[in-house]
Amino acid sequence: MLAPFLTFMLVAAGRIWGLWILFVSHLLLLMVTLVPSLQGFGPVLTKYCTKAKTAWLTIDDGPDPSTTPQVIALLEKYDAHATFFLIGEKVAKYPELTLMILAAGHAIGNHTQTHPQFSFWRLGPKALAREIDGFEGTITSLGIATPLWFRAPAGMKNPFLHPILATRGLRLVGWSARGYDTRIANSGKIVCRIKRSLVSGTIILFHERKQSEICLKALEQLLRELTVDRFSLIVPTAKELLTGNESVGKHLERGSA
Ligand SMILES: [Zn+2]
Repeated sequence: MLAPFLTFMLVAAGRIWGLWILFVSHLLLLMVTLVPSLQGFGPVLTKYCTKAKTAWLTIDDGPDPSTTPQVIALLEKYDAHATFFLIGEKVAKYPELTLMILAAGHAIGNHTQTHPQFSFWRLGPKALAREIDGFEGTITSLGIATPLWFRAPAGMKNPFLHPILATRGLRLVGWSARGYDTRIANSGKIVCRIKRSLVSGTIILFHERKQSEICLKALEQLLRELTVDRFSLIVPTAKELLTGNESVGKHLERGSA
């Protein structure tokens, strides 16, 4: 906050290098915006505390008729559970798939109403609230309780996001393992990258859009290999996920989990 003032004082005093303060402070803000795990604007959940060999599999961008039923079938085959971060517009289009996810014992999270992947980081408070509330409205209209978890499109965030999430009792979820499954066209490499970061309490980022065949193949390989390693994919409870956080009690008391 002091950066513009300091820069002005130094430049006014003939210290041109004072411009660096402004440059560096803007660079820091940009990094916090673009790097999903950086917490400069508020808490981002990237892992949870556990001694068991478990991880939280999170699957973004559904529901989609070309992938969701297969994903559910694979999870069932390997006795795994996941949280699907859904896009509200697609939930409205495929309500039966959303209900299928829940009926199979999985959980859902808020991944905005329209998934504005390229503009989310620069949305103002009104547009952000519209995206978040739009999703909640869609979910509520299906008679489903609104979830506690929110994931930003492409993991980007700005200073307006956390206050909006806080007033709605939502938590921002990031990740600690990803295989770049929307970009790498080799399922073996995707699994290898995920497993490289996998420890107890890891949050895995996965997608069910773009490269759907490769993603499904990678998911099956990951599930198969983790079964051999006796590593379980679960949906942790809100308490497990928020352990050590003072506001856990508040959230649980309000029943928003
Ligand atoms: Zn997404």
